[in-house]
Amino acid sequence: MSDTNRAASDQGAHQPLADRVLAEAPRLGPDDRFSFACHAGVPCFNKCCRDVNIFLSPYDVLRLKQRLRMTSGEFLDRYTLMPVQKDMRTPVVVLRMNADAEKTCPMLTDSGCGVYTDRPWPCRMYPLGLAAQKDTPDGWQGERFYFLLHDQECRGHAEAKEWTVRAWLDDQQIDAYDQWGEAFKELTLHKFFEEGGVLSPSKLHMFFTACYDLDKFRRFVFDSTLLQRFEVDEDFVEEMRYDDEALLRFAFLWVRFSLFGEPTVRARPEVVEAFQGSLDKRALFTNAAADEATS
Ligand code: SF4
Ligand code: SF4
Repeated sequence: MSDTNRAASDQGAHQPLADRVLAEAPRLGPDDRFSFACHAGVPCFNKCCRDVNIFLSPYDVLRLKQRLRMTSGEFLDRYTLMPVQKDMRTPVVVLRMNADAEKTCPMLTDSGCGVYTDRPWPCRMYPLGLAAQKDTPDGWQGERFYFLLHDQECRGHAEAKEWTVRAWLDDQQIDAYDQWGEAFKELTLHKFFEEGGVLSPSKLHMFFTACYDLDKFRRFVFDSTLLQRFEVDEDFVEEMRYDDEALLRFAFLWVRFSLFGEPTVRARPEVVEAFQGSLDKRALFTNAAADEATS
């Protein structure tokens, strides 16, 4: 599967492929069947984990950095690229292939994927792709279907093992990835962008930090005055301190509040007063950690 995207995604980074698929591919529903198996006995074993574009979602990064016992910053520095694209509205994060001649995936080992149970969404989905349209003004009711990716080198399609689409998705434990993907899509396809909004460099950086660099975002939450300024449930605050998924939930709320102006986080009454002029705002908003997250 060289020089290609591993699977068409509805997460924003594969739009031309998705458009083509929407027009041409046989559409599969949950009960449609296909044959496929991938195991160490196939002659192509490990050949497809090279020179492939794998776009990472925030949840992919969360799972991988936990698996590799790294901080988000270490993982992003070591294993990802952030290609700058024309008209890019939100950051794009791609798994960086090794610099060898074959551009091998850094997660590949002789016995297969070294992060198998935490591998990214596109790797879990293969050989299925997902195409989706967002064609209503307020939601995600557009056409959504699966299709079969059939790379010529892949011998897995000749295996006898038969699946329904639903059984494959269950087997790959795709549910959690899909739920996080939907929540992230609500940010990347936010009406702010549809209405022509463009994030400033510092806001783009906050978007990236909150969604992808969770350990840095945790410092922003706990080392800045944020928790003094906003009402966040105390139990949830304690959860966020140690639980990356809780923190990512808050990160998405924070993006919606701080970048798109949604009322997803509520300011404390004294902050409201400060904005109304009866308190000194500088006392509430001066903190180095807050600057760090947007620089
Ligand atoms: S993450 Fe694993 S499955 Fe995905 S390309 Fe790399 S080695 Fe292959
Ligand atoms: S069967 Fe397909 S997915 Fe499995 S190793 Fe071969 S090319 Fe990759």
